[in-house]
Order: sequence, then C-alpha cells, then structure tokens
Amino acid sequence: MSQNPSLLQRRANAVPRGVATAMPVFAARALNAEVWDVEGRRYIDFASGIAVLNVGHCHPRVVAAAQQQLTQFTHTAFQVMAYESYLSVAERLNALAPINGPAKTILFSTGAEAVENAIKIARAATRRSAVVAFSGGFHGRSFMAMALTGKTTPYKRGFGPMPGEVYHLPFPVRHLGIEVADSLAALHRLFKADVDADEVAAIIIEPVQGEGGFHAAPRELLLALREIADRHGIVLVADEVQTGFARTGKMFGIEHSGIQPDLLTVAKSLAGGLPLSAVIGRADLMDAVEPGGLGGTYAGSPVACTAALAVLDVINDEGLIERANVLGGQVLARLQAMAAREDLRPIGHLRALGSMIAFDLLAARGSKAADPVAAKAVLQKAQALGLILIGCGSLGESIRLLFPLTIPDAHLQEGLQLLEQALAIAS
Ligand code: PMP
Repeated sequence: MSQNPSLLQRRANAVPRGVATAMPVFAARALNAEVWDVEGRRYIDFASGIAVLNVGHCHPRVVAAAQQQLTQFTHTAFQVMAYESYLSVAERLNALAPINGPAKTILFSTGAEAVENAIKIARAATRRSAVVAFSGGFHGRSFMAMALTGKTTPYKRGFGPMPGEVYHLPFPVRHLGIEVADSLAALHRLFKADVDADEVAAIIIEPVQGEGGFHAAPRELLLALREIADRHGIVLVADEVQTGFARTGKMFGIEHSGIQPDLLTVAKSLAGGLPLSAVIGRADLMDAVEPGGLGGTYAGSPVACTAALAVLDVINDEGLIERANVLGGQVLARLQAMAAREDLRPIGHLRALGSMIAFDLLAARGSKAADPVAAKAVLQKAQALGLILIGCGSLGESIRLLFPLTIPDAHLQEGLQLLEQALAIAS
C-alpha cells in the first residue's frame, strides 16, 4: 500500500500537523527538474525543495561525490577528528564570498543554525546584545532565528517569549508603499527611542527577502546600512540562505549591491540536497568565540561536504550564474506576456533577480491590491496539473519560481505552459 491516499492517512496519524506540506502526494524519485510520485505521476519542479536544488535533483556529480564519501566514512564529528573536505569547503567559500579582507568559515547543517551562530559570533565579537532585523524577513524556526523572523503567524504566534533585544524595521517594498527613507527613519527612531546604536551587535538582512515575497533590498538601503554599521561598530549580516549559489545571477545576492557584509549565512543550495550550512565572515570576527563555543555533532557532515564541493564545481563548470540570468530573462518575458492576457487571471508586481522570480495575483486587472485566495487556488491547480509550485509573501499573495538552474529548456517550457494553464480563467 504505497498509494498517496493511504500515505496521507498514515501521515495524519503519525506526524503532527505543525509541519505542513504543500502537496498531497508523496515523492518516489527525482532527476534534475523532474519528480515522480509514488503512483508514477510525473511533475516538473519549480520549487527545488525551497531553493535547495540549484544544480537539480540527483546531479550525477553530486551523487557520485556523496557515494564515494559514504564508502570512506560517514561521520567522525569534526570536533572529535577533523577531515579535509570540511577545510576544502571552507577555503572555497572564503575565496568566493564578498567579505572585506581575510575570511573564515564554520559549517553547520541548517539555515536556522547558521543564523543562530552568526548572531552568537556577532555578540561575542562586539560584546553587545541587540540585533536589528526586518519585518517580512524569514531567518528560520529555532528560537533566535524565529525571533528575527518578521512574521508572526504561523512562525511566532504561541511560541513566546522570544529571545530579547530583537528589533524590527519596515522593509522597503515600493508597491506596498514603503520606501528606503521609511526604513532608515525607523532605524534612527529605534536608535533614539529603544536601543542606542552602540549597543547593537548586528543588523541582519536578506539581499532578497525569500519567504517574505522575493523583494530585493534596494542598493540604497544596503549602502546606508553598511555606512551605519561601520560608523557604530555594528556587524552587518547578509542572510543568503535562499539567495546564495547562483540563484540571483551572481554567486551571492549581496554582490548586486557591491557592498561587503561582515558575516554571510548560507545553506540550502550549498550541498545540492544534503544538509549543510555555513557562516562565512571576517576572520577577526569569526575568531572572537572561544574554542568549544561553536559547533554541533553533525555540523559539516563529511558526506554533505563532499557533495558541496561537487556543487561548487557544477555551478562553475556548467556556467549556472550566467544561466540564471538567461533563464530569468526568458521567464520574465513570458510572465509579462501572461500579465497582458485577458483570458488569464490578473497578475502583476513581476519581479526577478536572475532566476529568483515572483509575481502577485491581483484582485482585478490594473488593481494594485493582491489576492492571496487567488494565489492559493493557482498553486493548487498548478500542482494538480503536474507542476510543483510554491507561494510566498507576507499574505501568501505571491507565487515564486525556483526551478533548478540546470533545468533543460524543454522542461522549463513545459513548466511555463502548466503555469499558464493554472492561470487560465475559463477552465
Ligand atoms: N534564512 C532564510 C533567508 C531562509 O529562506 C531560510 C529557509 N527558508 C532560513 C534562513 C532557514 O533555513 P532552514 O529551514 O534550513 O533552517
């Protein structure tokens, strides 16, 4: 009995509803941008397991690297006996990340863990406690990451008290009427009213908000934050968990702004489906923590490290940074054509940075108001048609496209065709 309905029943009995799943089907196997469920139904994947599979499902080079490591050893705990692949990942990330001056890297398993540790490092280095984040931001589900997340339901409600000394600023999104000047005015008010700038350890920001709706942080804001951080000795943290590894048409999203953060958190696409995350940062800050203060039993798993080295090679050898830009341009043009069609539901607020692409369902053609109910209906219809598609945005009003950057052209076109069908009004 491995059919979807019986598995759904077992899931309902055995797994709490707190972990929600977008689709009512169960995975059996996957390759690049295709996934098959347990009933043999094929799907085109426009979600990549939430931005994890920039190199696609089961890339042969990633699988071969992980398999090779599995035959050597699966675990020693880096804190007990170290291994070279960890060092190689650290060296590669240190060389790639846009950090000012010499960098060091520490590895973990999840995005939330990277965020937690970035804040620990910033606090240890500055001997200050306050942290500033942005509304609409998402940083994970562990306690500090949850506190930093700028959305109450479903992430924070009922889980308090939150760790203290976390403050939120409005994130500028022009079509929502929030400008960079509003965010900066709020920051100055915060420094006056709630916490002195000299008591702030870190400011954390996503170069493009992920869960919050694929809104890019304006360059002007990032430049101002860099300047304020420098002036007050605050650690500027770029959370690149969703934007990293070629997704935005640069290796890291922050590179579009030209500014250099002090710490950078990465996870998701780093190891092509194996759990691996990292904090990359200025060596002087990274070394602020006493030996033993950082780590984790599984942090920097050797299997994930060998996979990550293969991922970094694939991004380079297959030109995925350039491909993210090419595919992003093609998809945006196609979405613009869809936005102009009367026989499709009204969409707008199209936005794309490389292949980090989203749009909103609108309440009416020409309206600025978004329609989260319509977005949910389109997602469900797309999924029923055979397209794995997920939403985002603070109200769930947006649809985000996160296809693997290795997606064959024919599968991209097939996916866009399914998306168009899901947007059709008449059927
Ligand atoms: N930061 C950002 C920007 C994210 O998008 C996410 C996950 N969506 C996280 C942190 C948390 O990562 P994880 O789910 O691996 O803990």
